[in-house]
Parts: sequence; structure tokens; C-alpha cells
Amino acid sequence: MRLASIVLLALAPTLATAEPPPSLTCLARYYTGHPVERNGAWFFELPDGKSIPYDDGKTRDFAQKLETPDVKDTFSIKYRKGPIQPVSLENDDPGRIRVEALFANTYGKSESQVQVVPLELLGQRLRVHKKLVPVFERLAKRLAGLVAADGSLRPFLTKLGGTFNWRNIAGTDRQSAHSYGVSLDINVERSDYWRWQKGKLKWVNKIPQAIVDAFEAEGFIWGGRWYHFDTMHFEYRPELLDESCYP
Ligand SMILES: [Zn+2]
Repeated sequence: MRLASIVLLALAPTLATAEPPPSLTCLARYYTGHPVERNGAWFFELPDGKSIPYDDGKTRDFAQKLETPDVKDTFSIKYRKGPIQPVSLENDDPGRIRVEALFANTYGKSESQVQVVPLELLGQRLRVHKKLVPVFERLAKRLAGLVAADGSLRPFLTKLGGTFNWRNIAGTDRQSAHSYGVSLDINVERSDYWRWQKGKLKWVNKIPQAIVDAFEAEGFIWGGRWYHFDTMHFEYRPELLDESCYP
């Protein structure tokens, strides 16, 4: 009996750390990779062999989080659904912190590797990532239903700004989410973007609630929920809309 207790006690710490952090388990549902533990530290291991630390213990300011985040940093700003609210807290940008390797490994590392296919949305032809065809099809159906019920929503969803475009985020050397065919810009003429503003940023928006709700219901985050607002921008980031993913 005594020996058994000692063995159990000795095993207890190992068992306690054997479960990966929920964020890593969650990421594995949406991205290509899996949690691994090395010497008590957790990583998200990608198919190319690269491992992203879950928490490397470093303290980073917002700019550093944008440049070189660990997994925990990407969940450090909570994405909030619900009624549209002005965003006035500086750098309150849920979803702008991205681990680029996660996208590259899941969707493709170069323009030729990203497999995009045509998809029709409200009579407009888009190019989206092959893996997300079911997601975009559900979205298209949902948006068609909205427009059928309320014609005033249609102008926001015409002259779509685009989906697939291998490029950097404006003003940075980081790859845009548009590079992977997982983002959609709606009508630019009905939208607002922080880079178009001069002087101190003041959040503005004309996109109706119903459109935002529809995208969020299919796993897309909206750039109108950012201090650095980009109200035309929707991006497939189901991990940020999944409560179980947050640390
Ligand atoms: Zn965009």
C-alpha cells in the first residue's frame, strides 16, 4: 500500500501536466498541427517541423505581439460578439495578433501553394481557399437569406472588395490574411478604415449589425471590432469565436 502511494505521488505531477493547454487542443481543431510537450513546456507543432511556443514567458508590448507572438498572445485580447460598440480602448484589436506559421502551414506557404477555387456569393464570383468551401457556402446562403428579407442590406454586399490576394498587410511586412483566401472584404465604398483617417483615431462604422452577426455565426471575425478599425474586413478565425480556446 505504502509503495503504491509513493508511486502515485511520484506520478501525480507528470499526470497533472500531461494535458495540453485548452488553447492548443482547440487550435488543433481548426489548424494543421498538434500540441507537444518538451521538458514541461507546451508547443504547437506544425507539419513543417516548426514549433510555436504556447507561452515562452516573454513580456511583449502590442507591437511586439503583432511581430512575434506566442500562441497565448494571440488569445490575449478577447473577441466579443453582440451589439456593435464603438472601440475606444487603444490597441483593442482582437484577432490582429496572428501566428503566421499557423496560416502558412494550414493554407499554403506561397501564392502557388494556396489552393483557391471559385465560389459564388450573391451573384459575384470570388476565389476562396479550397478547405473553406463549405464555410463560404454556408455564409453565402446566410447572406442571401438576409438580403431576401431586407433589401437595404444588399448594397453593403455588392462590389465585394475581394478575397484572395497574396500580399502584405498595408504598411507592414507581415502577410495579410487575404493571402490565404480566408478573408472577405465587403463593399469598400460603404466601409471605413483607420488608415484613411488623419490625426487621432476615432472609430466609425456604417456596416449593419445583421451582416456582422451573419459572418460571426459562420466563424468570421470582423475588423469593425478593432480600435484599428477595418469595417469591410471579415476573416475566418473560428478559434476566436470558440470560448473553449481561450486560456
Ligand atoms: Zn480585408
